[in-house]
Amino acid sequence: MKTLAALATTLGPAACLTAPEDIAPYAADWRGIAGATPRAVLRPGSVEDVQETIRACAAEGIAVVPAGGRTGLAGGAILAPNGPPSVVLSLERMNRILAVDARDFSLVAEAGCVIQHVQEAAAAAGRLFPLSWGAQGSAMVGGALSTNAGGIRTLRWGNARDLVMGLEVVLPDGRVLNDLRRVRKDNSGYALRHLFLGGEGTLGVITAAALRLVPALKRVETAFVAAPSPEAALGLFSRVMESGAEVIAFELMIGRCMDIVAKNGIGLRVPLPLGSPWYVMVELAAAHPAVPLREMLEDTLAAAMEGGEVLDAAFAENEAGRAGFWRIREDWPDCGRREGPSVNTDTAVPVSAVPRFIAEVEAAVTRGWPEGRLIAIGHAGDGNIHVSLMAPPGMARDAWVARAHGFEPAVNAIAVGLGGSFSAEHGIGQSKRHAMATHKDPVALDLMRAVKGLIDPEGMMNPGKMLP
Ligand SMILES: Cc1cc2nc3c(=O)[nH]c(=O)nc-3n(C[C@H](O)[C@H](O)[C@H](O)COP(=O)(O)OP(=O)(O)OC[C@H]3O[C@@H](n4cnc5c(N)ncnc54)[C@H](O)[C@@H]3O)c2cc1C
Repeated sequence: MKTLAALATTLGPAACLTAPEDIAPYAADWRGIAGATPRAVLRPGSVEDVQETIRACAAEGIAVVPAGGRTGLAGGAILAPNGPPSVVLSLERMNRILAVDARDFSLVAEAGCVIQHVQEAAAAAGRLFPLSWGAQGSAMVGGALSTNAGGIRTLRWGNARDLVMGLEVVLPDGRVLNDLRRVRKDNSGYALRHLFLGGEGTLGVITAAALRLVPALKRVETAFVAAPSPEAALGLFSRVMESGAEVIAFELMIGRCMDIVAKNGIGLRVPLPLGSPWYVMVELAAAHPAVPLREMLEDTLAAAMEGGEVLDAAFAENEAGRAGFWRIREDWPDCGRREGPSVNTDTAVPVSAVPRFIAEVEAAVTRGWPEGRLIAIGHAGDGNIHVSLMAPPGMARDAWVARAHGFEPAVNAIAVGLGGSFSAEHGIGQSKRHAMATHKDPVALDLMRAVKGLIDPEGMMNPGKMLP
């Protein structure tokens, strides 16, 4: 068993960062929130390196915090305060695509492979890896699977979990769970990989995954739509789902978001006049070029306009136009951050309950924080609306966080009350543990703790995360 110092010698200087300036980026995440400082950042280059790293850390009583692209929004990849001595184990050097098989509709990638690179490798083979969201240029396979990421296409192809055929994981005792197979059917007992998908690094380190691909899209049509209300948008959603085309995205945005995009977006142009109460982005696709998608979308929107569900619509006329539409959606987090501090949430409700959810949140804001600016933007097609409370202009972050205390629990309670979830796609990490304690079924929590105790009895994998 190697000590950590010996491990540093074996892995090499590039794989073992200890200088404060090298470690600093790994001590904070995308949100700018800093965790405790890790003792070192270890960057193994192979499964064997990960095994040695895990064993060496265990021998010295040092906990391991796995990290991918560090775009997670729940503080999962940074150290918890007051935790045991810990290292960050970054998968970033394990970034190879190991195999692409167009006939199997599969791709095998190491955990440090950036999601966009997976998409590009799939496209080069005439296939599509459908997982997609704003941070796909930085987020990595291991992080995406460990948070069971969702994004804009969950509506059509499901979450990350639904796109995994096989997994390779290094366990806290250093053994490798090798389930890296590309089979669609395997009923040989408990589906163990699902413990690690969405496991947020609390049970082991994902080192590689066999991912499911789908046929490449030969036609895509995208429209940017103004809608009078969430109810109207829900009516439009039913219409597009019944249109006969594949609906691959249906995003809902409160009108205020477009005001902020128009003000703060760099190189962004909102394709419709400002002032609509709500906007929707809808995207239809087909795997055959002859499918008359544009007509299908135009007919559907025309009927929705007659029904009062749509006020106005703009179509993306080419690929550049489509990319321009999506940049508005994807750059929203940066536009919002430039506008001012917000308290954010990540809830989901049944699709039919989206209008009621928004109405109840609006009422709560009017009662409790009338000076706040309500933001609602999200993947309405799967019921996942991110509502945030933005500070009034000019208010400092700390003051607003203190003032808006109680907003996130109120939103969680509304979502749960409507049969939804307090954690839709970002995971629990550090920031949602209080909500786990409040809302998670106690029997489920008992089972989770039992699983954790069995696989990681010393509690050395990502301590202070997920379980309350
Ligand atoms: C602008 C922006 C937009 C976003 N939009 C979406 C969205 O639409 N949908 C969505 O689902 N998410 C979204 N996210 C959140 C984030 O991108 C996802 O949670 C993503 O899956 C995190 O991947 P990562 O590689 O950055 O993981 P990290 O942040 O590095 O880690 C996330 C968690 O996974 C664990 N982990 C990382 N790698 C491994 C591994 N190899 N083995 C075991 N555990 C590991 C970490 O310990 C941590 O708990 C967004 C984030 C940003 C910044």
